[in-house]
Amino acid sequence: MSNTKEQGTLSINSENIFPVIKKWLYSDSDIFIRELVSNACDAIAKLKKLIFLGETNKIDNDFKVDVFLNTKEKLITFTDNGIGMTADEIKKYINQIAFSGATEFLDKFKDSENDIIGHFGLGFYSAFMVSDKVVIDTLSYKEDAKAMTWSCNGGTEFELSESTKSTRGTVITLHISEEAKDFLEPYRIKNILKKYCEFMPINIYFNDDSTDSKNAEPINDSNPLWLKEPKDCTKEDYNKFYTKVFNDFNEPLFFIHLNMDYPFKLKGILYFPKLNHELESIEGQVKLYNNQVYVADNIKEVIPEFLLLLKGVLDCPDLPLNVSRSFLQNDGYVNKMSKYISKKVADKLNSIFKNNRKEYNNYWESISIFIKYGAMKEKDFYDRIKKSILFKSIYGELHTLDEFLELTKEKTETKIYYVSDERQQAQYIKLFKDNELDAVLLPHKIDNTFISHIEFYESDKKLQFARIDSEVSNLLKSDDTDIDSQKLIKAFEEALDLPNIKIKSESMKSTDISAIILIDEQSRRMEEMSKLWNNMHIPGMDKSSDNKTLIINAKSDLVHSLMPHIQEDNKDMIKLVCKHIYDLAMLSQNRLDTDGMNSFILRNNLLLQKIIEQSASS
Ligand code: ADP
Repeated sequence: MSNTKEQGTLSINSENIFPVIKKWLYSDSDIFIRELVSNACDAIAKLKKLIFLGETNKIDNDFKVDVFLNTKEKLITFTDNGIGMTADEIKKYINQIAFSGATEFLDKFKDSENDIIGHFGLGFYSAFMVSDKVVIDTLSYKEDAKAMTWSCNGGTEFELSESTKSTRGTVITLHISEEAKDFLEPYRIKNILKKYCEFMPINIYFNDDSTDSKNAEPINDSNPLWLKEPKDCTKEDYNKFYTKVFNDFNEPLFFIHLNMDYPFKLKGILYFPKLNHELESIEGQVKLYNNQVYVADNIKEVIPEFLLLLKGVLDCPDLPLNVSRSFLQNDGYVNKMSKYISKKVADKLNSIFKNNRKEYNNYWESISIFIKYGAMKEKDFYDRIKKSILFKSIYGELHTLDEFLELTKEKTETKIYYVSDERQQAQYIKLFKDNELDAVLLPHKIDNTFISHIEFYESDKKLQFARIDSEVSNLLKSDDTDIDSQKLIKAFEEALDLPNIKIKSESMKSTDISAIILIDEQSRRMEEMSKLWNNMHIPGMDKSSDNKTLIINAKSDLVHSLMPHIQEDNKDMIKLVCKHIYDLAMLSQNRLDTDGMNSFILRNNLLLQKIIEQSASS
């Protein structure tokens, strides 16, 4: 080519690509930095490959990308010492952008709101989102190549001519436009570089014209931990990496290093943070990378939703960068990947369970919510993990479901009693312990739904979860009834006058419990579910008291003392005692409301008064 200036029109099949780019990318104009820096890294990677293949012997040890912000002249430059471009290559790769799929881009994604530029080979043009003018100055690695300069001011016209550049590689200069002047702040550029380029494979340096001293440290870690072989990494390496990436100084519980080439390339590290909270308060963060280029956080099409509770990095080199969400959703490859990731997580948890049960038991408290959530979200995950799901008993032991059933089957068959609130259900726990029965602790909000899932998943086992206060197990009862239960019930009915509460008399083995309140399991679950769904109306669920039964313990010492006195002329005293027994049962469950508590206290005063009066008169 002669040294004359060449002018031409960009070859695109639509009127003008720039307004389109500006419009679609407006919401996330930051990504021009990612695109230009990753092009620079690619250019170096290509040269390295050529050196490796022996196609060129231009050995250059100091491969790097320099980003420089010139605030005075309102310029940002991206300099690399990579492969460079010849005049023909500029024409082919830069001018003929239709070649890279611009038409397809326009046709297909007119309605898309996502940034999809990279996928269509338009990355370079994202520079025009923030620039009035873009200049390329480049010298190809090829022998006898001439340095070239290309410039374009955002219209369809460009200029191409020879340049004086004497070093191999490319400099892209952006003349930042008035609207994009926010990008002239060093801290902003630095933050964007940190976000998108923190793990890019070539050292990247950032400088600006505010100081003369040069940053000697790259802004990135070009060989991130996830690329290394797990056997070469120490626990300390993983913890340090976690702190650095997530700015979290709490040590993670444990991690899973995914490192596979087949059936697809996928590398990454997932960390299980120490947790002990309800689901809502857990904030995970899984960063997705494509060949060390950051794509986005928490892309739920690629990463199973329940894994988003974790923190981690995933690098999927084969994932189309920046494709729209709707594209991802329908992509079989992406779905397979998501399934594969959850399989790997289950495998790792199972292997800790098998090989180090003690350690696993220690983790359980922290990982249980995550596992239960995953089990409910994905049946496949449940099937894989179910033998490693643990239940804590009221005696503080951790059992799998099978182990627990094995322990209790003689007494309670396929029924599993559980405690949702140790304080509220303390009386029942005592009752169970006194009778050598076992129950599991399920204190989290999620447990309510979780047990329904297990009952459903394990329907062939005919499992049934019942809260410890939902019935009096036969095991707590004794056979002999030596009192007139009709009379007893009638006395309570008259005294309490609560038509919504069923009253029954049972003979229990414990003699120190006078009465307990039972709450029907199914209606309570429905009530809780309706609360969860914003007080939705479920027919037949109007009054929560409808499902309550007062069980009077015919064997209790107090009831025994009371029986002989149930007579017409003792009505006031009977009423007082019955009410008090009811309140005590309510109180032991923390169920007394303010009015109930007030009248309970007043009655206590009255009782004390009576005791004093009686002992004084006797
Ligand atoms: P993509 O990178 O997706 O192919 P781009 O529009 O970003 O699309 O770039 C188009 C092409 O221009 C690249 O494939 C590459 O051949 C060339 N190119 C862009 N930047 C550079 C650079 N810094 N050095 C060498 N070639 C480059």
